[in-house]
Amino acid sequence: MASCIFCKIVKGEIPSFKLYDSPKVFAFLDINPLAKGHALVIPKTHGEKLTDIPDDELAEAIPVAKKIAAASAIADYNILQNNGKLAHQEVGHVHFHYIPKPNQEEGLGIAWPQQ
Ligand code: 5GP
Ligand code: ZN
Repeated sequence: MASCIFCKIVKGEIPSFKLYDSPKVFAFLDINPLAKGHALVIPKTHGEKLTDIPDDELAEAIPVAKKIAAASAIADYNILQNNGKLAHQEVGHVHFHYIPKPNQEEGLGIAWPQQ
């Protein structure tokens, strides 16, 4: 869809930090991360809600979120997917959030010596 921000990101018309790119699925870092490494996984086909996306594209999206989680050094994380304004969806192109939940040591990136 011509006016969609995420369709523009897929086409390279808006820059992004790309994490994954296949014929059906694209993943990139969130521009306003809730945690370092917050990523978005999207089907390339434009659709506003989960119910608008063909099963074969959805079937590829979750394994990509899994790959990102597996590649991260952070053990705990959320996968979120919002549908519609009342459900806090801001961008009308289906996306899965990968949000790392670092513990204190992971969040600092170093392990402080015990006092
Ligand atoms: P939603 O609330 O729709 O589930 O989440 C939309 C997400 O898209 C937000 O976390 C927001 O920071 C992210 N976002 C919005 N515009 C852009 C953009 O132009 N580039 C990137 N990388 N992320 C975006
Ligand atoms: Zn779109």
